[in-house]
Amino acid sequence: MSGTSSDSTITLIGAGLAGALLAILLSKRGYRAELYERRPDPRMRAGSAGQSINLALSTRGLHGLQQAGLADTVRQRSIKMPGRIIHTLDGETRFQPYGVNPSEVLYAISRAELQNLLLDALVNDPNVQITFDAKCVEVNAAKQTLTLSHESTGEITTLTRPHLIGTDGSSSAVRSAMLRTPRFDYSQTYLEHGYKELTIPPAPDGSFQIEPHALHIWPRGTYMLIALPNLDCSFTCTLFMPFAGAVSFEALSTPDAIAEFFRQQFPDVVPLMPHLVDDFTANPTGSLVTIKCAPWHYRDHLLLLGDAAHAIVPFFGQGMNCAFEDCTELDACIEADAPDWEHVFANFSSRRKPNTDAIADMAVDHYIEMRDRVADPHFLLQKQIEQELAKRFPEQYTPQYSLVTFQRIPYAQAREQAHIHERILQQLSAHIDHLDQVDWHQAERFIQRELPLSREGAA
Ligand SMILES: Cc1cc2nc3c(=O)[nH]c(=O)nc-3n(C[C@H](O)[C@H](O)[C@H](O)COP(=O)(O)OP(=O)(O)OC[C@H]3O[C@@H](n4cnc5c(N)ncnc54)[C@H](O)[C@@H]3O)c2cc1C
Repeated sequence: MSGTSSDSTITLIGAGLAGALLAILLSKRGYRAELYERRPDPRMRAGSAGQSINLALSTRGLHGLQQAGLADTVRQRSIKMPGRIIHTLDGETRFQPYGVNPSEVLYAISRAELQNLLLDALVNDPNVQITFDAKCVEVNAAKQTLTLSHESTGEITTLTRPHLIGTDGSSSAVRSAMLRTPRFDYSQTYLEHGYKELTIPPAPDGSFQIEPHALHIWPRGTYMLIALPNLDCSFTCTLFMPFAGAVSFEALSTPDAIAEFFRQQFPDVVPLMPHLVDDFTANPTGSLVTIKCAPWHYRDHLLLLGDAAHAIVPFFGQGMNCAFEDCTELDACIEADAPDWEHVFANFSSRRKPNTDAIADMAVDHYIEMRDRVADPHFLLQKQIEQELAKRFPEQYTPQYSLVTFQRIPYAQAREQAHIHERILQQLSAHIDHLDQVDWHQAERFIQRELPLSREGAA
């Protein structure tokens, strides 16, 4: 079977987070969007919500949702996290605010709920057509065709489509087709750490068992546990840990080993997780990958966006935020250059790629920092100096975390700033071992020289 569509129809493969948001933005611009999604409609799965997985939403992602008119609704369905609570091994807790400004908060939102809110906004839109249970199994770039497999009926459909955007996530089928186009660069790099999701359920009276307005972290050197709150008063926890080695997923292969490990390393968590061992055994161990590729487009026919173009590791909580920012960046390119689609796609790729490379690298650096440096006293001293610099020079010194999370300056610029910060911190911390020994006059000179107030592009 075959069909064609008009030039003002954009076909999206994958109605996940980025695909659904992009379809809303395309419709707002007057384009028709058709989406093909591999899975069944998630909104039909009433009562089988299963494990709740949540995401930290921040400024860049909220901006995308704002453009779609959904930011307020999403904020109302999420939980504000103004800071992180660090849990030490001896059970002490320490609250660290994320920003100096009260608006600098993260929002914990259920992935399923966010997905459903986006789909709800789409289904009654006359410009948008979604077909669920339609897995893209083949894209032929030269012939401009795509082949879909409808898993529930076994039907196979081949369609001709002029403009196709792959929003089909990190295992993208559209990217597989791009791999067969000339001079396409591709790399994937796995971390030696994986992750496992666990749950802290609500207390017997239905309330939260720990403080809901925070992202909880139990840092333990080469591994760590984090927890984000859900509206049903549970927490979704994620354990990041090496796949192999002395302390690893591989080593936790028996119920006794799992229980003993948690008793020793996360004693305050054990009473909160009555199903810990069962959950640990039943839930899969996920891997963490960075994917980079180029170019993201093929003529005016194919484009990759979101995780399909650039999967990043989650240590800055930016994958979805970055994918939503992709959508607003593409929207700006469409405003400037459509209907010259080749120009739109090329311009989007060349503007965006240096920034997604930057956040991919910053996310890996952050992982290395957490893995190797959290116990290094000199590194901890630099972090103290950094906090003091941010307090003393708030107009000039914005820590990297805030630049990435609470501002919309290009990621590449945030990384450039972070390199300058690193230089300043290295110089200020050389030959000292305590915050009291910092030469603040020297600090001021460095700041005025390296971070002048009129920094271009600061948002
Ligand atoms: C452990 C972990 C924690 C994370 N935490 C955060 C966080 O706190 N904050 C944050 O911003 N990001 C986070 N992320 C990243 C975030 O999940 C992704 O970046 C985001 O989901 C990317 O959106 P996407 O739409 O590009 O891809 P996806 O959300 O993966 O959507 C892809 C869609 O395409 C569909 N699809 C796939 N293949 C096909 C096909 N062949 N045919 C048709 N449809 C197809 C899929 O079913 C899916 O619906 C985290 C990631 C991980 C692994």
